Amino acid sequence: MRRTLARELNNLIERGRDRQLRLAVTGLSRAGKTAFLTSLVYQLRHAGLEARLDLLPAARDGRLLGAQRVAQKDLGVPRFPYDQAMAALEATPPRWPEPTRGISELRLHIRYRPERNGLFKGLGSDSATLTLDLFDYPGEWLLDLPLLEHDYLSWSRRQQATLSPERRALAKDWLEAVDRLDPAADADEAELAAIAERYAEGLRSAREEGFSDLQPGRFLLPGDLEGAPVLQFFPLPGLDEDDRRRLEALPEQSIYQTLARRFDHYRQHVVKPFYREHFRRFDRQIVLVDVLGALNAGPERFEDLSRALATLMQSFDYGQRSLLSRLFSPRIDRLAIAATKADHVTPEQHANLVALLEALLAEPIKDLRFADVPLSALSLASIRATQVQAVKHQGKHETVLRGMTLKGEETLMFPGEVPPRLPRHDFWARQGFAFQAFRPLSRDARGEGLPHIRMDAALDWLIGDKLT
Ligand code: GDP
Repeated sequence: MRRTLARELNNLIERGRDRQLRLAVTGLSRAGKTAFLTSLVYQLRHAGLEARLDLLPAARDGRLLGAQRVAQKDLGVPRFPYDQAMAALEATPPRWPEPTRGISELRLHIRYRPERNGLFKGLGSDSATLTLDLFDYPGEWLLDLPLLEHDYLSWSRRQQATLSPERRALAKDWLEAVDRLDPAADADEAELAAIAERYAEGLRSAREEGFSDLQPGRFLLPGDLEGAPVLQFFPLPGLDEDDRRRLEALPEQSIYQTLARRFDHYRQHVVKPFYREHFRRFDRQIVLVDVLGALNAGPERFEDLSRALATLMQSFDYGQRSLLSRLFSPRIDRLAIAATKADHVTPEQHANLVALLEALLAEPIKDLRFADVPLSALSLASIRATQVQAVKHQGKHETVLRGMTLKGEETLMFPGEVPPRLPRHDFWARQGFAFQAFRPLSRDARGEGLPHIRMDAALDWLIGDKLT
């Protein structure tokens, strides 16, 4: 009894104060971060009006009074372009918002009426405010965490090992140029800059071809470092651990030493500050994964995504001995992983989609559970662009999707079945997956509100406990 009393008293005091939560959204490019954040802000701003949020108890019970954007505290971080994103979705024809390319932030004040049950019913103020700081940053930046464990030589060797024949073909220009370099020769600034650009170009082509496991992450999404000399390095192929002594004795101005210095600078002045100044301060995090996109891209890309995610998720491994805990002592107390764009498959496939996401992240999930980080896996569509329709096919009722292609053609399709576990050879040989990009629904087609799938479930996991 006394414990209940103490808890309720504490809750009451807590509510009296304005509370704050820092929620971060990440995922690799095109995972759906911009769409997610746009929808999240929309749904909270229109809670109690046209937003449908039945899986979020505060909204379902009519206690969520709405949200307002307010000035953010950190003036050094760009503001998330919500108005532009909404304007794109409201345009005729509607467009997907332009993706953000670096870190951005948006602060919301959420007004809600606290639950009134228990001993202190009737006490306290009528409404409370939760300050929600939202951050959006590229998942590619998290691919850089392992760089902190490497020095230039070991990183060069590691990068060489990741070059599959197809990746080699995509990096052909860079490989040709770098093969001619003698690590002991004097560095020529212009030459190194040109080769670094070819390296970045190779990474970008690989990204366009659907590869994900690419380093360094800032080469793909430089944010405000575009063109800066700190990004002018690349791994040297063909080096061996046995060469270490000889390489480390090379003069300062040698190519090897110059590249090693830049690599070190990148680790110290680009990778570390992001973790120290931003990542460490997030309270909660959602990682978005375009599982369906990878399924559509075939076995090699799918495996590559799996590797990239394993690297990315190291940033959430709070095991005591993990690199992250040793360096930054982060404090995320809740994590969600979500398979996005669930409106690309028919509803009966959603359970398989979550199962596949969990299979894809099986190892990192094990580590997270072990480190006792509360985790929820779900599938969602931030902005639902299709409608489900029943059709009769060969005398049977089937569920199909109706949507508009990006070119504006109405289509009716059954995209395929999602395997509930990691697809094996026979899946790729037999079926594959027919995935099609859809245009967002026009206002006529969607009616009031911004339709979604399970944004309310995601919100409940991420902020629901702060709205009680
Ligand atoms: P970001 O690079 O992670 O910010 O990804 P975006 O949010 O820009 O999403 C990339 C693309 O995925 C968009 O342009 C859309 O084509 C598609 N997309 C994102 N979210 C959804 C969704 O909920 N449903 C559908 N059908 N497509 C989506």
